[in-house]
Amino acid sequence: MAIIVQKFGGTSVATPEKILAAARKAIRAQKENNQVVMVVSAMGHSTDELIELARQITDRPPAREMDMLLSTGEQVSVALMAMAIHALGSHAVSLTGAQIGIRTDATHTKARIKSISTRRMQQLLDAGNIVIAAGFQGIDEDLNITTLGRGGSDTTAVALAAVLRAEACEIYTDVDGVYTTDPRLLPEARRVPRISYDEMLELASLGSGVMHNRSIEFGKKYGVAIHVRNSQSDAPGTMIVAEPESRDVAVCGAALIKDEARVSVTGVPDVPGTSLDIFSRIAARNVTVDMIVQDVGEGGKADISFTVPKNELQLTLEAVQDSIRVFGTGTVTHDLNVAKVSVVGLGMARQTGVAERMFRTLADQQINIQMITTSEIKISALVSRDHAQAALRAVHEAFQLEKAPPARAEPESSAVNAADPSDAADVVTRLQGIDMEELFIDDIALDETQARITIKEAPDAPGIAARVFEEVAAAGIFVDMIVQSHGGAGRASLSFTVPQSRLQKALNVAQRIASEMACAQVTSCPRVAKLSVSGVGLRSHTSVAIRMFRALSEAGINLELISTSEVRVNVIVDGSQGPRALDCLQTAFADVLR
Ligand code: ADP
Ligand code: ASP
Ligand code: MG
Repeated sequence: MAIIVQKFGGTSVATPEKILAAARKAIRAQKENNQVVMVVSAMGHSTDELIELARQITDRPPAREMDMLLSTGEQVSVALMAMAIHALGSHAVSLTGAQIGIRTDATHTKARIKSISTRRMQQLLDAGNIVIAAGFQGIDEDLNITTLGRGGSDTTAVALAAVLRAEACEIYTDVDGVYTTDPRLLPEARRVPRISYDEMLELASLGSGVMHNRSIEFGKKYGVAIHVRNSQSDAPGTMIVAEPESRDVAVCGAALIKDEARVSVTGVPDVPGTSLDIFSRIAARNVTVDMIVQDVGEGGKADISFTVPKNELQLTLEAVQDSIRVFGTGTVTHDLNVAKVSVVGLGMARQTGVAERMFRTLADQQINIQMITTSEIKISALVSRDHAQAALRAVHEAFQLEKAPPARAEPESSAVNAADPSDAADVVTRLQGIDMEELFIDDIALDETQARITIKEAPDAPGIAARVFEEVAAAGIFVDMIVQSHGGAGRASLSFTVPQSRLQKALNVAQRIASEMACAQVTSCPRVAKLSVSGVGLRSHTSVAIRMFRALSEAGINLELISTSEVRVNVIVDGSQGPRALDCLQTAFADVLR
């Protein structure tokens, strides 16, 4: 008999009526000859209310006690759900994370799942019960209760679907599926019938709160097709699978994050080991960093900027202060009034002019871009928080996200071509004995075909990036990595890489633009080496960037540019160091390369 996992989010179990409605859906699936596991979140806003209660007691609650507190939300809802199913005449048993045997590490408030036992669930299912699992929680080696991070019930659901080799994993929520952007922010957003794991991973970690990003890591790693649907209707929803909706369009979605802060560290030594020192201190505090931008050094000093979640700013500043103390030089500043706007799409890896269109759109709205980072499938721009909504709307419109991609999109029914369960079973077997959320690296690559150009001391004003990339694109040059740092003092520095054969042409463009902007200078490196480490969920595994920094720093190799995404961390080093750097990385990741 097939197993179906159905997850119900907070709003979908917010009232007794909604709990009964969810119970009916599960009973219906069971009557259709399936074994059903429900994963349930805490009712409505009860997790927020528990957090607020804790805050009224203390500013710094011990993380262990926070988990003890937060896990109670889900315990309430699973019990009520089991009662609802009994009341409707079927059998159900509710289980906490500990009772299921969801083992996690001990990182309270953002624990990672190590293993899940299926024995008790399977026995209960075989005896005719609907199993009701508490989402978001687990238990560590010492039997302490842990939680997986806000929104973590999605991750519980997909992880259960993986280990149970479920035929379907249905995520019931309060919208009709995954949209091109948050439909509450932009009513013109369009529901997509299908989206790829890689795109959803990026969107989820760049602000699309509809799915917990780590649930998508599980989906990708274990081949679980994830079906996002509205709990109040039978609308078709969205399938999250390997294939995107369209390979022809550059951008499939846009996202916005307003609760991050920018941190800039200026005047630190431009020597191997500087990034390592800063980011390993931050990682030791379990803070996830994004938009790392390191400015090509000058006069022996480097500037590094990045973003962190606002609620982790204090911890981050402490870490950076420790580094500055060790370096004996450097200053740290931060800005809370920022927002990150991103566009994502598998198609952009093969098209020119995508970055240019995004920058032009923002420039036309008179919105200044403070920082830029790109990866193969996403572009992020940091803007003032006051412009967040306008920036999102403009970008959504510029890429015509409200319109379905032309022709080749297949009919909706084919979207339900779930991953083949036998493939999933193979993966589960292959990954047995490895912690479920263990780091997973599948490739380490060296690209020696690129050159770097940097425009320094450009005015920090709207339209500069748009102008540069418009002219570079007009010359038919494909730009790979783009990094713009936060200038401070009204100045910005913009670096990008192009194929070596196009360096002269791109340099001419850069020099012409620079000479028009009186104070800008252009530097370049005719041969750089780009090293990429690819895998699953690299941004949440902060240890990947650190391992790269450590390996390169120990070999005395200096980093020129860095870019991070969910699926890849890229670094640019001097061209002469390519093969040696590759060697170092292969050794450093030997134990996690699968
Ligand atoms: P649940 O409680 O069911 O887990 P969440 O609040 O976590 O629900 O997620 C659903 C919400 O995610 C929606 O109400 C919507 O406002 C928001 N959201 C953000 N980005 C997107 C997106 N790209 N597509 C759909 N919903 C999104
Ligand atoms: N109840 C938890 C939260 O609000 C987990 C979840 O809903 O996914 O974050
Ligand atoms: Mg959620």
